[in-house]
Amino acid sequence: MLLLTLAGAVLFPSAALGMPSLCGETGECVCITWITGGGATVEVRCPANGGSPSGWSTSGDPRDADGGDGSFGGSGNPSTLPSTLPGTVLNPTTGQNVNNAKNAAIQKLRGTKIVDEGTPKGTFEPNACTNLFLNSPLGMTGGQILGSYVTFRDGTNVKDSNNVNVCATNVPAWTTCCNHDRIVYICPGSFNSMSANDRMWTLIHEALHVGGQLEDKDTTVGPNDPPNSSQIGADVKKACP
Ligand SMILES: [Zn+2]
Repeated sequence: MLLLTLAGAVLFPSAALGMPSLCGETGECVCITWITGGGATVEVRCPANGGSPSGWSTSGDPRDADGGDGSFGGSGNPSTLPSTLPGTVLNPTTGQNVNNAKNAAIQKLRGTKIVDEGTPKGTFEPNACTNLFLNSPLGMTGGQILGSYVTFRDGTNVKDSNNVNVCATNVPAWTTCCNHDRIVYICPGSFNSMSANDRMWTLIHEALHVGGQLEDKDTTVGPNDPPNSSQIGADVKKACP
């Protein structure tokens, strides 16, 4: 049961997803970041030509800094500001592949569908795939982690804490293990060349790390070592066929 050898039960406060945060001001303009299912979006919104801004309207997303609804009603030109998130936004092809893999993974992680006359339709029973996250320190299911916690970013040329350009090592995806970092980096070259199933398993593997699953990085084998990457990969494949 190496797979469930997890770090201490550190629960992070759950941040509200979907809520934008003001990431700075440029003159009269505001920089807004919000998280969506497919990643994060940053947009600069400015009042029209220095005139009086028409302000925030009362409908639409993203919500304003007070937590109420509000989208900027001015006619200024939105312009793209480099995101404050590490990495870069996924290109459309990669984004589509990630979304497909994510949706397939969430389906798998729901468990086994119960089909019998006495059970309401749409009932799922946890199975080995669901249970990969049973004792996850983050306290979230795999579906919750992939569906609403993680932000996927293009990890091309992103260096980890050891100054390693991880995507250059031919991995399909990686995350900063294991403090529940929300960012999962996708390495488009490797990720896109994999089969649909391998992409799905890869995302479940990374979701385990986001949840707190440790991974052995050295070649020594010890009784207290966590599983290495290929062991985790094999376990995911077996649990979520
Ligand atoms: Zn791993």
